[in-house]
Amino acid sequence: MHYLFYMSKKSRNKVLDLEGLKSTYLREEILSFFKKSHRPISANDVIAYLKRRKIKFNRVTVFRTLNTFEKKDLINKIEFQEGNFRYELTSLPHHHHLVCLSCGSIEDIDSCFFDSELQDIEKKVIVNQSFIINSHRLDFFGRCSKCL
Ligand SMILES: [Zn+2]
Ligand SMILES: [Zn+2]
Repeated sequence: MHYLFYMSKKSRNKVLDLEGLKSTYLREEILSFFKKSHRPISANDVIAYLKRRKIKFNRVTVFRTLNTFEKKDLINKIEFQEGNFRYELTSLPHHHHLVCLSCGSIEDIDSCFFDSELQDIEKKVIVNQSFIINSHRLDFFGRCSKCL
């Protein structure tokens, strides 16, 4: 029949429940796409994903869902100067990005191995510039392995 038929309460998404959002099939699918992606994704990525999964949707609902997720603080909007926004889960640990200038791909980078160096830099900035730092953003631009 329909997904609602066999979607038990158990399988409903706890995250959506916590945010007081009704668990709909589309919201579940979009959220699971975010969880699977190891990169910031755009509305077009979401649309392509839903098409691949042969899921019926309408574009307006996708944009509305992203807005709702953002308002509920489930996802963050990020801008990479590519003319549209990308989003990533707010629950992700702090990380940085690799941006390919050739194909436009953007990947998350595990930055644990240089976190302590970055903390040192922050300390220097605080001392030298009398600036209180809340957060930082560091993206690396270059070419990905496919574009070498
Ligand atoms: Zn960092
Ligand atoms: Zn590339």
